[in-house]
Amino acid sequence: MTRAEWLACDNLLELLSTARQMRAGKRPLLLFGCGCCRLAWDALTDERSRSAIDATELWAGGFISSRRRAVAAKAADAARIEAAAAWERSRQDRSSSERMKAHAVSLAAHVAFHVSKSGYYDGFIGQVRSAMGFWAMSTRPDETRERERFCGILQDVFNPWRQQPAPGEWLTTTAVAIARQIYAARDFSLLPVLADALMDAGCEDADVLAHCNSTEPHVRGCWVVDLVLGRC
Ligand SMILES: [Zn+2]
Repeated sequence: MTRAEWLACDNLLELLSTARQMRAGKRPLLLFGCGCCRLAWDALTDERSRSAIDATELWAGGFISSRRRAVAAKAADAARIEAAAAWERSRQDRSSSERMKAHAVSLAAHVAFHVSKSGYYDGFIGQVRSAMGFWAMSTRPDETRERERFCGILQDVFNPWRQQPAPGEWLTTTAVAIARQIYAARDFSLLPVLADALMDAGCEDADVLAHCNSTEPHVRGCWVVDLVLGRC
């Protein structure tokens, strides 16, 4: 698959298969998993589950220690167990809509725990989709839009066609500081500012500059930010 074919592809299974063939490491798949959990953010009603995803992303970016990630994952495990129990209870005496909400919360807490503890796993996508569907009270989520959103996240965190590592002259104090701010604060509105800093440093890479100015979804693990942070 060429870079153009990769970007044009809207088949998630094909993209995942290609990523594996192209030896995507655990890190991009982990951050893909975290990014997908954020698609089901509304169903992650327990702050412990959200914190575990946040901690996992920060750990993958080198911002916090393995221990802090593990502590967050342990808290997410407790949230998962409580959510599963609440769903079990809801199956007996609550309305249909409450049952679906409880099921969504339980599924979302399940994926958040497992991704934060161990990373991406088989069956993950189906569980996130189900959580989103149950939360939306719909058994027919907008498959096309969903596919686009999942694909967009994978395309954001995995780009084996990039120039690597970034030329040293790009990595000015300003560019690195902006990239760190983007990652730490998830402030992707700063990507065009990063593009300006890179151009000031002599970057003429059309792919890098176009990505910074694109409206595509960006997540922690965005390949341009990683390139500047030397995290590829
Ligand atoms: Zn990006």
